[in-house]
Amino acid sequence: MRLNLAFLALALAGASAFTVPQPIAFRARSAVYSSSPPSIDQRITETLSEVPCFPFGAGEKGRSADDKWLLGGKGANLAEMSSIGLSVPPGFTLTTECCREYCSNWNGELPPSIWSEVTAQLKVVESKMGCEFGSDTNPLLLSVRSGAAISMPGMMDTVLNLGMNDVVVEALSAKTGNARFAWDSYRRFLEMFGNVVLEIPRSEFEEELDNIKFERGYFEDNELQVDDLKTVVSAFKEVYVKNKLAFPDDVNEQLRLAIGAVFGGWNGDRAIKYREVENIRNLLGTAVNVQSMVFGNMGLTSGTGVCFTRDPNNGKNELFGEFLIDAQGEDVVAGIRTPQPISELETAMPEVYQEFKKNTEILEQHYGDMQDIEFTIQEGKLFMLQTRNGKRGGEAAVKMAVDFVEEGLIDKKEAVNKVLPEHLDQLLHPSFSDTESDTYKNAVVASGLPASPGAAVGEICFTNEDVVQKSEKGIPCVLVRDETSPDDVAGMYASEGILTARGGMTSHAAVVARGWGRPCICGCSDIKIDEAAGTLTITKEDGSTVVMKSGDFISLNGNTGEIMAEKIGVSPPAMKGDLEQFMTWVDEIKEIDVLANADTPDDAAEARKNGAVGIGLVRTEHMFFEPERIGQVRQLILSKTEAQTKEALDNLLPYQRSDFEGIFKAMDGYPVTIRLLDPPLHEFLPGVEDEEVLQKLSSQMSMTVPELVEEIKSAAEVNPMLGLRGCRLGITRPEIIEMQVRGIIEAALNAIDDGVDAIPDIMIPLVGKVQEFKDQAKLVRATADRVFEERGKTCKYRVGTMIEIPRAALTAHEIAEEADFFSFGSNDLTQMTFGYSRDDVGTFIPEYKRKGILLDDPFVTVDVEGVGQLIKSTVKNGREVKPELKIGVCGEHGGDPRSVEFFANDAGLSYVSCSPFRVPIARLAAAQSATKK
Ligand code: ADP
Ligand code: MG
Ligand code: MG
Repeated sequence: MRLNLAFLALALAGASAFTVPQPIAFRARSAVYSSSPPSIDQRITETLSEVPCFPFGAGEKGRSADDKWLLGGKGANLAEMSSIGLSVPPGFTLTTECCREYCSNWNGELPPSIWSEVTAQLKVVESKMGCEFGSDTNPLLLSVRSGAAISMPGMMDTVLNLGMNDVVVEALSAKTGNARFAWDSYRRFLEMFGNVVLEIPRSEFEEELDNIKFERGYFEDNELQVDDLKTVVSAFKEVYVKNKLAFPDDVNEQLRLAIGAVFGGWNGDRAIKYREVENIRNLLGTAVNVQSMVFGNMGLTSGTGVCFTRDPNNGKNELFGEFLIDAQGEDVVAGIRTPQPISELETAMPEVYQEFKKNTEILEQHYGDMQDIEFTIQEGKLFMLQTRNGKRGGEAAVKMAVDFVEEGLIDKKEAVNKVLPEHLDQLLHPSFSDTESDTYKNAVVASGLPASPGAAVGEICFTNEDVVQKSEKGIPCVLVRDETSPDDVAGMYASEGILTARGGMTSHAAVVARGWGRPCICGCSDIKIDEAAGTLTITKEDGSTVVMKSGDFISLNGNTGEIMAEKIGVSPPAMKGDLEQFMTWVDEIKEIDVLANADTPDDAAEARKNGAVGIGLVRTEHMFFEPERIGQVRQLILSKTEAQTKEALDNLLPYQRSDFEGIFKAMDGYPVTIRLLDPPLHEFLPGVEDEEVLQKLSSQMSMTVPELVEEIKSAAEVNPMLGLRGCRLGITRPEIIEMQVRGIIEAALNAIDDGVDAIPDIMIPLVGKVQEFKDQAKLVRATADRVFEERGKTCKYRVGTMIEIPRAALTAHEIAEEADFFSFGSNDLTQMTFGYSRDDVGTFIPEYKRKGILLDDPFVTVDVEGVGQLIKSTVKNGREVKPELKIGVCGEHGGDPRSVEFFANDAGLSYVSCSPFRVPIARLAAAQSATKK
């Protein structure tokens, strides 16, 4: 039962699950929610508004899209469309607060105060429509539609044609003179009501329908005649009986139950899973829209469709959609019949098309964004049923943002907010290297609809569970299904791409895949899936077949719809065209710098290409792991004599020097922040079982193997992460630091000799006390002076510190006296502030998130209340001492958009630093943050 899950969402929503049911007190609220979601604290203290219901349609004015936290996206936009004069069937919206009330206090009952509002509002709708709900002469039918503040495609269910029974169907038939339409609406209602409200599996209805169609020799639903439809209605009623459920003839009972089911659906498994995946949590619930029906199933001058105002795949400014003549809403999305492209509406119904086209322009102008529209045509009259900002792929997002600015629809600041970090991420993903080559062309075995762009290469999986299991092991998977259902969201999310045999460009699969940036090919009729046998049979153009098994590699080209029965090579993306233009606006707007974490000249070059203006972290130890170097490092650690130490250091120096030189060259003119050796030394040592290495090392070091093993054992620490690492190592083994600093300074001087502007920033790790910093800074400066003297010239350099131990944060004012810059090592700072071992959090963080103890993984998104507090006070204290102190962050958080916003807007950092491939995303996040200041 859906409601059993109520407590979970409540925990997420921050409300108490254990409140005793009580009538609602409709108290006035302090403020109406505006364009941003209310904070959690705000919500706990808020109660229901005076008015739980808002009318829309028939020119109703007053509400706006800003009310979406209260009215849900669908309700707010229906209100908005009607207030700007578009034709919207009248109705009313029950607020998200009603949903919370229903879920938290009423245990599946509709509160009487809400019901009395419903009946009052219904009267208004009846008078607007000039008909009456449940009337036996002039009946009004309703749709009951869910809609949360954030669009959740396919997650919440809609009931159409509500208000039907044996009497009403006759009345409707007599009133319209269209018996086929009346009975068609009745059978639709029986199915939807049975499925959504009473939870009878849809397949039980579909089976009956298929049987009747088969008996009559029909292919499509709209071939059913009045008598057939009556048979369907009887069969559907039997389905209720078989399930021991009563179909309520009372239309008010229908309405009451349907509203309850939509509210209850908020806590359904699918909805919860979707919110989890999408990280949606600060919502009260879903709103319910009760709306008078308009009918697309009234014959050949009626129809229904869905349409994007621009192409959501490539951003082209042309309508992208589908419609069906003589059909009702769900038919298009469910893929029951093959829809026609929207362009054909122009010939089918020219006047409707013109009005529709005009509406799309009005809506784009009004919302300043591409719209995703649902509409119905009843006997030649157009009705707008939904609009929302459309989901889009990365390429489209960037092109539209650029076009909107050029068309004068929005300004650059708005434009940078039209592209999501995920969009850039998609664009920065690899694509198939050479789609013009013969190798590629010959590999193509079939093609389907290019529903969501990108290259996907992975193992074939036929089930949701299979994808989830394999992807957890790091195996790339492609989900292959007849059609995806909302139950597949977890697998869709975990997959590299999705291939379906059925469904169109606006099918649920296509919409969800685009939203998540998963490449997707839909409606590929050349494939046949046998889930039981675990095979995929592809019929090629020439009629021959290819049989593939679960686990075989398949490649999908979401841009073209081409399918390859093998692993196809991919190559990295390029910054050009619209993307290049867009990124120049990003850089104009952002107020902090974005640097990269890079350890090699190649990474540094990559970082520059992605727009990094320096390196915020070079992890010098990463230079030590290469095969020819590690032996020297081991000798250094284990050496017993000064000679052995010196030999190892002398051997390592040239490596360090040449690496740094390469990095300085790649970063010509930009700062390179180099962290001195940080990890615990035993990380470099071989395992005591590693015979071959031990043999070699023992002869290199003139030790016996047992002696060596003893040495290795004695270097082990109980808790290495809190042991001899960072500056502690530097303080106990200064000769290592001397070698590193020599390498850095010599490299800088060499680079400068070659005409490069080298800017070394030397950074001391794991400082907790100012004395530690002083010791190491002195060593750094003395070593640099020595090199300057030897070389007879100098260069500029700075000595700064990592802030990653809470003690350093707490004594920032002292450290700022000595240090030239601060860089937050936010990973360690998080680890030590929470006392969570970063490498072991996997055992409890998922449960913590489920229980709402942690809302985010603090190693992914900076913990604003705790760690963030330390960061803010460090910045404040540091800058009090040195107002111009350069302060940045080099932990993983530097590439996380929400963390970037905190660093830029709340903490006031000068820069963030992240992995080279995250740099464009961090730049975008920085620009978006600047617009939110
Ligand atoms: P979803 O959120 O899944 O898109 P909707 O509430 O938009 O669900 O309903 C799905 C479809 O049902 C709509 O696209 C529309 O075609 C049809 N529909 C909803 N309300 C009405 C109505 N009042 N009259 C006619 N069709 C409707
Ligand atoms: Mg739906
Ligand atoms: Mg809809």
